[in-house]
Amino acid sequence: MSKENNPLIDPKRHAAATQMVHGGGKRSPFNETSEAIFLNSGYSYPSSQHAEDLFQGKIPGAHNYSRFANPTVDMFVERMALIEGAEAGRAFASGMAAVTNAVMSQVRAGDHIVAAQALFGGCRYVVEDYAPRFGVESTLVDGRDPENFARAMRPNTKVVFIETPTNPTLELVDIKAVAEIAHRHGAKLIVDNVFSTALYQKPLELGADLVTYSATKHIDGQGRVLGGVVLGSKALIEADVHTFLRQTGATLSAFNAWVLLKGLETYALRIERMTDSAEKVAKALAAHPKVGRVIYPHEKSHPQYDLAKRQMSRGSTLLALDVNGGQEAAFALSDSLAVILISNNLGDAKSLITHPRTTTHARLTEEVRLETGVTPGLLRLSVGLEDADDLIADLHFALDQV
Ligand SMILES: *Cc1c(COP(=O)(O)O)cnc(C)c1O
Repeated sequence: MSKENNPLIDPKRHAAATQMVHGGGKRSPFNETSEAIFLNSGYSYPSSQHAEDLFQGKIPGAHNYSRFANPTVDMFVERMALIEGAEAGRAFASGMAAVTNAVMSQVRAGDHIVAAQALFGGCRYVVEDYAPRFGVESTLVDGRDPENFARAMRPNTKVVFIETPTNPTLELVDIKAVAEIAHRHGAKLIVDNVFSTALYQKPLELGADLVTYSATKHIDGQGRVLGGVVLGSKALIEADVHTFLRQTGATLSAFNAWVLLKGLETYALRIERMTDSAEKVAKALAAHPKVGRVIYPHEKSHPQYDLAKRQMSRGSTLLALDVNGGQEAAFALSDSLAVILISNNLGDAKSLITHPRTTTHARLTEEVRLETGVTPGLLRLSVGLEDADDLIADLHFALDQV
């Protein structure tokens, strides 16, 4: 009797929920059930010859310094690579560190970036303000129509960067169409996949070259630590991404990697429940007379419903709503909530509501805000793990106060 012939010995054959519990399970000689935290910065070697071989890359999988190699961090990356279907990945201190690395590791002075204009604030800063300081120009386009990317491509375009669905208005970008355009011009497509989650959208299968996550969001999912991860082919990760991480050092700590590993064990369970509730809340809000518009990718009223059905297996844990009466009404609603908290974080066990115009998107001009759908009455709701009926009752009470 032996498990060698059991097909489930291969974690790639496991369903997502199983992968998130068992994937990337390195064990110490003590065979601990839960993953260990390796809180060490360095490693010692049995001999000088061993050290020389290791530094020459002759010992695969070896560890020589925790800035770029730590067993707990490795386990987190392996677990993420499994659910993403990626050959390799690297972890970072935050989602922004991951995005900055993914983008900046692919360009040099004289190159050009094309990005969708509706991006998370920090991501927009990296392509619009930071990259140009080093001679990398960028063009921002309305991401809803793939043709806008085709028109913006130049012979020196090396990176196309998108986020879908976007923050906060849940607009979609057609990943497959944009991947084809990028590749036709010899550019790499980088997708920030936070809003759809690794469970419900597979950018690599649709043609993306690198996928990034803020692990701070659904992956931790309990408001504890920051983290980020970049996933893709062995070739891209082991060359550019690894070198950038190794030499610039935005490393994920072993402790935070361990918290994220524990977060992943309940990832599928949490996201399924949060998505079930988001669907119910979206339907309840859409039926309310004081709500002008509810934006939810798998609701028929979403302007890109067909694309949402094609590219996302479910509709996200986030939704946006436009309250009649503008900013005053949006503030009155938020301030009357008893269960849902006012916070700009997302993907958390706690339901969180934010007014993008005055918080996350306050840095942008009113013109840009309106272009990207950030109206005065817009609220973004991240649906958590509370009972869906409690959330709906909380929102109904608050709407009555508007
Ligand atoms: C939060 C977020 C980021 C940045 O991640 P941090 O962990 O906060 O640095 C990037 N992109 C998206 C879509 C996000 O939601």
